Amino acid sequence: MRIAVPVEGPGERRVAMTPQVALRLIEGRHTVVVESGAGVGAGFSDEEYSNVGVEVGGEPYKGAELVAVVGPPSAGQAGLIPEGAALVGFLDPFDAVDLVTVLTRRRITAFAMESIPRTTLAQSMDALSSQATAAGYHAVLLAATETPRFFPMLTTAAGTIPPVKLLVLGAGVAGLQAIATARRLGASVSAYDIRPEVREQIESLGARFVAAPVDESAAAASGYAREVSDETQRRQQDALAEVVEDSDVVVTTAQIPGSPAPLLVSREMVERMRPGSVIVDVAAPSGGNCEVTRPGETVLHNGVKVLGPVDLPSRVAYDASQMYARNLAAFLARLTGEEGELTYDFENQIVSEACITHDGRVTHPVVRRSMGLEVES
Ligand code: NAD
Repeated sequence: MRIAVPVEGPGERRVAMTPQVALRLIEGRHTVVVESGAGVGAGFSDEEYSNVGVEVGGEPYKGAELVAVVGPPSAGQAGLIPEGAALVGFLDPFDAVDLVTVLTRRRITAFAMESIPRTTLAQSMDALSSQATAAGYHAVLLAATETPRFFPMLTTAAGTIPPVKLLVLGAGVAGLQAIATARRLGASVSAYDIRPEVREQIESLGARFVAAPVDESAAAASGYAREVSDETQRRQQDALAEVVEDSDVVVTTAQIPGSPAPLLVSREMVERMRPGSVIVDVAAPSGGNCEVTRPGETVLHNGVKVLGPVDLPSRVAYDASQMYARNLAAFLARLTGEEGELTYDFENQIVSEACITHDGRVTHPVVRRSMGLEVES
C-alpha cells in the first residue's frame, strides 16, 4: 500500500508518521511518502525519513492509496486525495460538513481516529489517550513556568520554601498524567473527579482526593462521564470553592464527550484566589471548566492567570507524534490484508465504528445525524 503523509495545517507541529514507525511499515512492504518538511515542526528532518527508505517529495498525494494526517485536511486539500483512496486522522467529523461532503463526492473511505472505540482490544490505537497524556503533561509544565513559586519544597540557607499547592480537576487520562507530572516536580497535589472509582487511582499517584460530590451513575458504560444535573454542578462548585481558593495552581481537565465541558470554577471562585495563582484549563478546546477561560488565550483576572491552551499535544510534538504514529500504525494493521493490501472488514467493530465515509456514503450514524441525513436502524 502507498501511504502518503502531507504537511499539516497551520499551527500544527505534529506529524502523522515518524521515521521510526515508517521503517516498520516499510519492512511490512508498504511504501511511505512524506511531503518535504512535514516532520520539521516535530523534530524530524527530511533526511531522517529518507534514511529509513521513505520517499520524500513535493507531491505526496500522487498515487496515494491511503493518506495519514493528524488534524482534518481543508476541503481544498481533501480535493487532492485520489478518488477512492482512504484517509485516516483526527477528522473532527461531527463539525465538518464541508470536508465530509468532499470525502463522499470523491468516494474516499475516511476513518476518524477519535471514533475508534476505547475498548481494551483497541488500546494500542487509542490516539485520544496518547494525546491526552501529552496534554496533561505539558499543562503542568506551562503552570510551572507561569507560577511565581517553586514547585518542590526547598530547604535552603535562605529558609524553607513550602511546595506549591496544585489541584487537578477531572482525573481521566490527561488529569492522571497532570498529577504524576506535578508529583515528579515536587508539588503537593490534590485532585477530584465526579467518577468515584477514580479515587484509588488519584491516591496511588500520591495525591489527596478532594471531598466533593461523586456520582455512581456519572460513569457511562464506555468509562466516560455523563453530564451531571444543575443541582450536582452547584454542589460541586460549593464543595470545591475552598480548595480552589487555597490552591496556587489549578489544572482543569474535565470533559464530557459530545457536550461542552462542565463548569467547575466560577468567576467568583477565581476572584477569591491569591494573586499570582495560575489556572491551566486543558478543557479549553471544548469550552473550558473555568468561567474566565478564553480558548486559545491567556486572561489575567484580578492577578490570576487563566490559560486556555488549545494546542497542548502540538507543543510536545516529537513524542506526541511518536505515540500518534504508533496508534495509527496499529489501526492500519486492521485495514490491511496478508499482502499488505487495503481491506475494509466492516464486520470488525473497530473498523466499522471508526469509519465516517465509504463508497460515496456517510456511514457514521452520529455524523449522519449532525448533517441532517436519515439514520438507518
Ligand atoms: P475525558 O477527557 O472525557 O474527561 C476527563 C475526566 O473528566 C474524566 O475522568 C471524567 O470523569 C471527568 N469529568 C467529567 N465531568 C466531570 C465533572 N462534572 N466533575 C468532575 N470531573 C468530571 O475522559 P478521558 O480522560 O478521555 O477518559 C475517561 C475514562 O474513560 C478513563 O479514565 C477510562 O476509565 C475510560 N477509558 C477507557 C479506555 C480503554 O478501556 N481502553 C481508554 C481510554 C479511556
